[in-house]
Amino acid sequence: MGDHAAGLLKVLFPHLSQVVINSIGRMGKSVRIAAICTASTAWCPGCGTVSARVHSRYGRRLADTAVSGQETAIDLEVRRFFCDNADCAKRTFAEQIENLTFRYGRRTMTQQRALQQVALALGGQAGERLTERLATPVSGPTLLRLIRSMDIPEVPELTVLGVDEFAFRRVIYSRPQGVLHVVHELVGLGDLRGGSGYLRPSITQNSGRDHAGSARRVVGDTAGVVDGAR
Ligand SMILES: [Zn+2]
Repeated sequence: MGDHAAGLLKVLFPHLSQVVINSIGRMGKSVRIAAICTASTAWCPGCGTVSARVHSRYGRRLADTAVSGQETAIDLEVRRFFCDNADCAKRTFAEQIENLTFRYGRRTMTQQRALQQVALALGGQAGERLTERLATPVSGPTLLRLIRSMDIPEVPELTVLGVDEFAFRRVIYSRPQGVLHVVHELVGLGDLRGGSGYLRPSITQNSGRDHAGSARRVVGDTAGVVDGAR
């Protein structure tokens, strides 16, 4: 591979900077990238010990963001390492590539983040239609699961509670990463990322469609309430 082509790949695929690309080809209408991991060591996720002893190799297929409108997948050869820490419960572990892979993930981190933004903006059904047009097709239920898998940071104080037809999505969308945790506590729905996972059923069960009135009964005068949260 010439220097020019190698430089182009670094620019176009920065998330593949820590692996070696063996080939880029086409399968049907899809782009397929074959790559291998070559780092000499990996750290155990159980205890943090660095290991250089390779147990085995296997292939992972990762869906990636589309390249020029073409569905793209990465066939990545990864390794399983031994953990030599006698106090660690893990005997072996799979290596993860920074900014590219995550445990049990079937897509790249780049695509994961992109799909989460689609899900937050559009929800399940509309999000599904958009992902088909963006050549990264994902089902609506999968998009909703991606929302629930997101980390929710601690929030010290509630200032605005937004509730509407799909409050779980809208709250995050309107107040990025800020309000949801407090909503979760005040409304007392348990873990929003499991089970029903929505504010809407409880709010509407309590008060029909009077979302603002229901929210006020929950939070009292401790915070402003915006019906529609726009
Ligand atoms: Zn370990």
